[in-house]
Amino acid sequence: MKIEAAGPDRITWQDHHGPVLSSQNGYDVITCAACGFAHAVPLPPPEELSAEYSERYYRDEKPTYLSHAREDQAWARLSQDDRLDVLERLLPSSRRRLIDIGCGPGFFLQTACARGWQGEGLEPSQQASDHARSLGLRVHQGFFSAERAGTLGRFDVVHMNNVLEHVPDPLTLLKAAYDLLEPGGFLVVGVPNDFSPLQIAAAAQGLPHWWVAPPHHLNYFDFSSLSAVLERLGFVLRERQTSFPMEMFLLMGENYTAEPALGRACHTRRKRFDLALAETGLNEVRQHFYRVLADAGLGREAIIFAGRP
Ligand SMILES: [Zn+2]
Repeated sequence: MKIEAAGPDRITWQDHHGPVLSSQNGYDVITCAACGFAHAVPLPPPEELSAEYSERYYRDEKPTYLSHAREDQAWARLSQDDRLDVLERLLPSSRRRLIDIGCGPGFFLQTACARGWQGEGLEPSQQASDHARSLGLRVHQGFFSAERAGTLGRFDVVHMNNVLEHVPDPLTLLKAAYDLLEPGGFLVVGVPNDFSPLQIAAAAQGLPHWWVAPPHHLNYFDFSSLSAVLERLGFVLRERQTSFPMEMFLLMGENYTAEPALGRACHTRRKRFDLALAETGLNEVRQHFYRVLADAGLGREAIIFAGRP
């Protein structure tokens, strides 16, 4: 099997090699020496993914996503504001043009626009982009690619959350994101923090690799592989953030991976933790807590602020 043009360096299927970390659904996840991060092989053909994310994803794979996202928005607002706080500190107030690549139902974009950002979004899913438009947001429906990037204009901030784990060519997309930025602008990129030390500890207690989910998740970054890839593409790394290390529940004996209802209950507890700190006026303590975790390579997500020189 041969897959062409899987990255800016024209990496071909034969070039993807490295030790197998995990196997699931007929795919191996390898630490790829050529790409510099872990990913599934074989990579599915792009046309398969196109139908998946334009029509099926929110309908079949994430049927409860929209209702949960609405229910979670008071809590999700905290991390949305955390990201915007950093950007508003890093950029002068005259630089507020932002694009959210893979904006989903539009909640981050809505928060950004409410804070005075000139924001727009790009989203492949019909259902999610319809929802974002119903919030009064400017959203283009479609996939991000180097070609598409050429039609979008230039921005001070490119926000790309929970995108790179899904795509067969994350390096191409990161390079296109770089090209979308004005000099001095920032990319905020968030991915699941996978094969993290806490996940490895939980797996050593006998749990399966629940975070390995090809073909929905093709790429498995952590802070160090994501940092290295960004630096290789010319970005300058500025800050890290993360979210609650959900694996702590597993290590304390609450196996939510086997029970969706328990998963939702654990999620409610971490929301309560974040909101309790915020309601007490300890937002800075909460932000510091997550920054320290991120610096230690821990937390459920790896979020990096990377500048274009
Ligand atoms: Zn590779």
